[in-house]
Amino acid sequence: MQQDLFVAPQPTTEAPTLFAEVVFDRPLDHAFTYGVPTDLAPLVAVGKRLKVPFGRGDRGIVGFCVGVTTTVPERKVKPILEVLDDDALLTDPLLRLTRWMADYYLCAWGQVLNAVVPAGARQQAGSIRRVFVEPVPDIEMPPKLSPRQTAALVALREVGKPVEVRLLLRKVGCGAGIVKALLERGLIRRVVRRVDRETQAPDDCEITGPLTLNDEQAHVVETLRPALHRGGFKPFLLYGVTGSGKTEVYLRAIEEVVARGKQALVLVPEISLTPQTVRRFAGRFGDVAVLHSHLGDAERGVHWRRVQTGQARVVVGARSAVFAPTRELGLIVIDEEHETSFKQDSTPRYQGRDVAVMRARIEDVPIVLGSATPSLESWHNAQRGAYTLLSLPRRVASRPLPPVRLLDMRHMPVRRGRPSALSDPLLESMRKALSQGGQVMLLLNRRGFATHVHCPACGHVESCRFCDLALTYHKQRDTMVCHYCSFEQEPAQNCPACGRSAIRYQGLGTEKLEAELQELFPAQVVRRMDSDTMRKPGSHARTLAAFRRGEIHILLGTQMIAKGLDFPNVTLVGVINADMGLHIPDFRSGERTFQLLSQVSGRAGRGPRGGCVYVQTFNPEHPAIRLAATHDYALFVAEELEHRREHAYPPYQRLARIIVRGMDEEAARQFSETLANAFTETIARFPLTEPAAVRLLGPAETPVFRLQGYYRFHFQLQSPSPATLHKVLRLVMPMHTPPKDIEVSLDVDPFNMM
Ligand code: ADP
Ligand code: ZN
Repeated sequence: MQQDLFVAPQPTTEAPTLFAEVVFDRPLDHAFTYGVPTDLAPLVAVGKRLKVPFGRGDRGIVGFCVGVTTTVPERKVKPILEVLDDDALLTDPLLRLTRWMADYYLCAWGQVLNAVVPAGARQQAGSIRRVFVEPVPDIEMPPKLSPRQTAALVALREVGKPVEVRLLLRKVGCGAGIVKALLERGLIRRVVRRVDRETQAPDDCEITGPLTLNDEQAHVVETLRPALHRGGFKPFLLYGVTGSGKTEVYLRAIEEVVARGKQALVLVPEISLTPQTVRRFAGRFGDVAVLHSHLGDAERGVHWRRVQTGQARVVVGARSAVFAPTRELGLIVIDEEHETSFKQDSTPRYQGRDVAVMRARIEDVPIVLGSATPSLESWHNAQRGAYTLLSLPRRVASRPLPPVRLLDMRHMPVRRGRPSALSDPLLESMRKALSQGGQVMLLLNRRGFATHVHCPACGHVESCRFCDLALTYHKQRDTMVCHYCSFEQEPAQNCPACGRSAIRYQGLGTEKLEAELQELFPAQVVRRMDSDTMRKPGSHARTLAAFRRGEIHILLGTQMIAKGLDFPNVTLVGVINADMGLHIPDFRSGERTFQLLSQVSGRAGRGPRGGCVYVQTFNPEHPAIRLAATHDYALFVAEELEHRREHAYPPYQRLARIIVRGMDEEAARQFSETLANAFTETIARFPLTEPAAVRLLGPAETPVFRLQGYYRFHFQLQSPSPATLHKVLRLVMPMHTPPKDIEVSLDVDPFNMM
């Protein structure tokens, strides 16, 4: 029987001479040492998972091996119980990267490792254990072998590499007894390997040969080339307006490193939203590994190993692909580097872009950060010479950027009897674009039907039972939903507060806009794209494909439609409400508004027919809106950077945000004050020799005070020196464990300020 071939090694009682350092997925900041029993010694390696005893109870828990040493520890140690992986899950550079992350984002190394290695790779899902055998080398063919045994041995020697037992048996036409006999006589040995299950063929791809670069693209590629050939850490910021052909530049750069036998890693904001980009990479390189959140564990495991074995030369993926286990990395590319989705909103709260730059540094390779609207952090880095700036200031084929017209909604006449969401000029230009055979995209960054359900008599607003947020009415499902925690409630006929008046639905969401458009344009196909209509995997790609084929005339949606899409036939882009994000209490709200408007405008006029953009706004003078309309990134960042400097915000200062939350409001408030006081004291005691000061802002209630039933208080620490900031955090945080039922979260370089 094949089972007989798996003979568990006998435990030994000798004192260990080898020790493993292990970290766990728990907020513990140091490694634990364990003894390695002799029989497990050949199997233990850094980057593998081990099962070890921990605390009481001897079933053992799983940790990552981060070090192996022969130094005998002073204290008596327990032995490891089991080695769980055949191969290390992490390369040495990845171990160093995750160690850095634990230090920088102030969380446990084990927590980082656990988040970094996808479940699929850990369980080795998608692969199966198979027993192989190979001849033991340099052993003479002994006499007294049965003909079958001889045949099996000869066959094995002929193949010259391990052969799966069942294949060997089939080939030689013998039973398992033969293999067993050869094993017992020491003529062959057993090798256990994991083999991939068959995987499906990659998704359809756009097979395109390289385009002829225009002069500006060629210049950029020329500038990159020495770094690509030489290797070595070198960061580039590629600032290229929408439609300037950045993707072609990435493709060329990747070709250069792949031709040298290296691998390239491409990070994109949200992979399901950028099927087109992925197809372009797959079309050019064939063997592309794609890592994203919609993959099942098995599929992800397969891609992970294709990267690990070097079979896939190019990896495309979202945030967590920054940890792809490449063997010989040659280049990292980050497309749309300004996108906030690169920041992870749960522990470890890392910024994928920054981690990528650190990985490039550790692996000593160049990195290209590309965007039409670079983040202020990256722009600042380019200005101070830390990054090399490359620009593509014009669109390809001398197509102009589309003219943007601002529609001042304060002065728009409101007429009864027709929807007020679309002003006359926007409606007019939609009619015109459609009658000329063009396609229209409309951005409304709010899903649902009515965003405000309230009572006109008493002013009551229907809000979430657990969050300080208004519920959004979804008409199709006839329910009110909290967009934060998904709490649902059936709408009442009459006001649940005063009962006097019928409840009223106000505020426009995409669902309502869709209904209105269908009424206004009965002859056209209208399609909505938001997270409600795009629930099923693949629906996004399908809708985009239909749009590309011209089967959809008007595509409306949330910011989902703003991402790097290239539809030459879009001649009109309309923004229903440009001010939506402007009034959020977040120092980045201007930057985000500018980015969103620039990106969505960038969808217009990408083909020979040209195109234009209409932006409805109540704040036409706001710099983020005014300068997005004139495509003036340079002026916008200049003004915005000045503002950031004045108010001591990033990129001039580093921030750390601390949130204290609890179901008990008073307890949460108290602990936030205790913690903030501890910081104040530590900062005051801080030696004056420290080059930079740390400033504390708060504590205060968070802008959305209650979320999912938790009352939340926050405060911020800021300093021009990240080192000083970290020092203070390290002094205070470990000394203040929160009381029971209070949770503290620390966010270094926060993006979410709510
Ligand atoms: P970006 O990413 O900068 O917005 P893309 O890379 O999507 O721009 O390029 C926009 C369009 O221009 C794409 O359809 C692409 O195929 C095309 N394109 C890019 N470079 C060239 C070139 N050198 N010649 C012709 N077409 C090009
Ligand atoms: Zn809620």
